[in-house]
Amino acid sequence: MKFKQEAIYKPQVMCPSCGKMSNIDYCKPGGEYTWWCNNDDCGRQYNFKINNDWSVESEPTGTIITRTKVTLRVKDTDILFVIMGRAFNEDHNDKYYYEEHTCPVNLLNDGIEVYDGDIEDPHGIFEYISTEKLE
Ligand SMILES: [Zn+2]
Repeated sequence: MKFKQEAIYKPQVMCPSCGKMSNIDYCKPGGEYTWWCNNDDCGRQYNFKINNDWSVESEPTGTIITRTKVTLRVKDTDILFVIMGRAFNEDHNDKYYYEEHTCPVNLLNDGIEVYDGDIEDPHGIFEYISTEKLE
């Protein structure tokens, strides 16, 4: 049995610095957002506004991210996690970010949930060890 699907259009925004397109399904007309270009050769942050006709106005903020290798230890164990990180300018507080701020599951590429006993989102399970810049 044949099935005909209507055309699907996905809204995208173009990085004003390098031209890389990013999906913006989460955006709404009239909304203003901040995004990081995920082209590793670019990594520039920009602000953009979605107009009612889905045209987009964007402007670089001047902030650039670089890829990093971050080492974390699961507290009170010898288990180390080495993950791909991103440095948001030189003054980013990686110790606070990885130990307190971000959800542990966000650090796992295919993570669905991270538990510690009955605690469903155990912030604080990682001890921050180091960040190295990747070239
Ligand atoms: Zn870019």
